[in-house]
Amino acid sequence: MEKNQAPGRKILSTGAGKCNLSNAKINAGHYHGGAPGFAARTLKALPPAHVLDFFGELGLLLSAEADGRIFPRSRKAADVVNVLGNRLKEKGAELLLLTCAQSVKKNLSGFEITVRRVPPKWDKKAAPGPLRTITADAVILAAGGPAHPQIGGSALGLDLARSLGHTVKNPKPVITPLKIKEKTVRELDGIRLEAGLSVYSGGRLIGSKRGELLFTDYGVSGPPVLSLSRAALTGVETSAVTCHIDLFPDYSREAIFSLLAKRRDAGPERPWKDFLCGLAEERTINLLSSSLKIEPAAPAGSVKDPLLAEFGGLLKDWSLEVSGSLGFEDAMAAAGGIDTAEIRPETFESRIVKKLFITGELLDINGDCGGYNLHFAWTSGLLAGAAAAKTMSFPSSFSPQP
Ligand SMILES: Cc1cc2nc3c(=O)[nH]c(=O)nc-3n(C[C@H](O)[C@H](O)[C@H](O)COP(=O)(O)OP(=O)(O)OC[C@H]3O[C@@H](n4cnc5c(N)ncnc54)[C@H](O)[C@@H]3O)c2cc1C
Repeated sequence: MEKNQAPGRKILSTGAGKCNLSNAKINAGHYHGGAPGFAARTLKALPPAHVLDFFGELGLLLSAEADGRIFPRSRKAADVVNVLGNRLKEKGAELLLLTCAQSVKKNLSGFEITVRRVPPKWDKKAAPGPLRTITADAVILAAGGPAHPQIGGSALGLDLARSLGHTVKNPKPVITPLKIKEKTVRELDGIRLEAGLSVYSGGRLIGSKRGELLFTDYGVSGPPVLSLSRAALTGVETSAVTCHIDLFPDYSREAIFSLLAKRRDAGPERPWKDFLCGLAEERTINLLSSSLKIEPAAPAGSVKDPLLAEFGGLLKDWSLEVSGSLGFEDAMAAAGGIDTAEIRPETFESRIVKKLFITGELLDINGDCGGYNLHFAWTSGLLAGAAAAKTMSFPSSFSPQP
């Protein structure tokens, strides 16, 4: 059952359309939240290699980047959706599209699910269909979290789980761009550059990454920011969190100062703006030198060693204060969700309602950036599917092959 007009809409947007579906370095240390040992028990029940084999059996060729991220070899998320869709067809699964589950109730014989047909987004005039009821022996709740509502993310699944007696921890956006307090950063909107990024909370280093930074009209994004956003947003609730950008991660402070000093002494008459030319991304270094009130027309030689060292210091350690996130619209995942103490980590069956299974991002467990969240969605889905099939009574002519 899927409220969108096609299944797997979120998968299509993953990894910028390439679908970073797993990681060669999967281990429990890459998962956050969750009851102690939950992720480890799940990964033991279905080792990561088996998940990759499952995709291999579906016909999907995979390849890994040097950093461990695993993608379809075609680098097309649509291939992932298609091989999964083909398997559903082969197994004779019925897909109820544009169908939203409104309520799930447990009774003595199984479950009653109230559903409503939802109008497609393109049909502005269509009204929602009438409510109808579907009965089921077992239910797998795989409704995802509230991240990216524009492509189907919602809190509906959390509401359904709550109505069945589950505890829900308040969801929060993670793997998300960060808003920056300093308004001047807006001048850099659209600039991408390779840099080092370290995040400090209350003066304590909480993480460092290197990669492509993207400046936006509200702050910063790009892989290093997304990776460190969970730690940054956790810290921001209690103390000042700062991003420290290193525009020259391959140079020491001393090396950068000596490079600047040599450059200055070779042409002291050159205007400062010409001195900067070719040093690093233009708008960024102009912004940094104007923050030190160095006049673009001033001769480079007028910038004496202490000011030059200060400028070099900014190139190596430019500090910006984090003010928060942009909410779920821009987040790739949600932290929080259904308490995993109420879920069996080997089958994903609810400890509260028998034959109810809950998977993926609905649960209070979230992975690092790099394929860990999709890997958890596949793992929990495969374990829940196999376990749910075992609980069902099938006609004698049909036997499930989980
Ligand atoms: C832009 C973006 C990029 C991402 N990139 C990556 C990446 O490269 N690698 C990675 O590991 N992770 C990535 N993620 C995270 C990953 O996509 C999710 O963690 C994962 O899809 C969660 O899977 P899920 O099955 O729990 O939920 P979802 O994939 O969200 O699927 C849940 C589905 O349930 C439907 N639904 C919800 N409520 C109802 C209802 N009441 N009735 C009927 N249908 C309902 C929704 O429409 C949705 O289609 C990305 C996320 C986003 C938003």
